[in-house]
Amino acid sequence: MRRHHLSMLLESLLHEGPASRANLARRIGVTKATTSALVADLAARGLVSEGGTRSEGRSGRPGVEVGAAGWSVGALGLQIEVDRVVACIVDLARTVRIEHRVDGDNRRTDPARVLARVEAVAKHALADARAAGIRCVGGALAVPGLVDPSTRALFVAPNLHWLDVDLTWLDHALGFELGVDNEANLGALAELRVGAAIGLRTFVYVSGGVGIGGGLVLDGALVRGVHGFAGELGHVVVDPHGPLCACGSRGCLEAYVGSDSGASPEEVAQALTVALRSVVHLVDPQAIILGGDLAASPEVAEHVAEQLRHETLGGRWRPCEVRRSLLGPDAAAIGAAATVLDATVADPTLVPSSG
Ligand SMILES: [Zn+2]
Repeated sequence: MRRHHLSMLLESLLHEGPASRANLARRIGVTKATTSALVADLAARGLVSEGGTRSEGRSGRPGVEVGAAGWSVGALGLQIEVDRVVACIVDLARTVRIEHRVDGDNRRTDPARVLARVEAVAKHALADARAAGIRCVGGALAVPGLVDPSTRALFVAPNLHWLDVDLTWLDHALGFELGVDNEANLGALAELRVGAAIGLRTFVYVSGGVGIGGGLVLDGALVRGVHGFAGELGHVVVDPHGPLCACGSRGCLEAYVGSDSGASPEEVAQALTVALRSVVHLVDPQAIILGGDLAASPEVAEHVAEQLRHETLGGRWRPCEVRRSLLGPDAAAIGAAATVLDATVADPTLVPSSG
């Protein structure tokens, strides 16, 4: 119960802004004494701070304002891509405060070497966070492959040519337990929290790079499937006689749309529409969100939207919107940090108390 109230209070401060204890008590429906105890608990964890006084309504009685420590608490988001590694720090107010990228081809590279690059870029970001007065409460890593978030095992990353890689090695290097998830899943969560999908309940996120990933959010929740493998849109077949894909099959969407395919925007839109037609018929989403390289071209988004309008059964009456991501290529890293911040808001007791 206490955990629930701590979460409600922190959520209220983040979404509705600072307030006096009396106002907070009204907002979350508990007594002022309980509110004071909850505020003291969150303050000991460094999640709230007290600001100036403000008069309370017409009575004019001043109350000390309590606010979320939006700027001084943050999380680390990491991302391994085919051609670079990324580290970012996102604060509790959901602002990306620090971003570092290190370019380098990760294909057919010993995973240990790539993880060492991740460690270096992560430590750089954490040092910058400390210098900026941001306390990091945890971190997570986005990878371009199939992972089991519960064991943090990476089964396969076709474009990296990685099989069965243990990512827990990074825990020792960084000194805390790093969350791990698929890059498109985390990209979809980033869109939901801070991107083009704010306010949406059901949408499909498509991330474009050398590989193509997909994230499906149904009724506000990410769909992972039974094994965590859901949303592998890049390996949906566009043409069974098509070119060979990195996964070993033929004619996958990725072989037509991936940034190595050399396809024109017209060809990209054409292949995307073939795959997305099936998705729209199956899921009936509010929107498709194009991310990564696919977000770069307004033509592609317009073309896909136009074709889906004509080539889906309900498109004439309820066309599926096609939006472009505004988060840029680091969406998955931002989403990784967001999962840690979400967990912190859902259970503030995860952050140790100093008092
Ligand atoms: Zn494939």
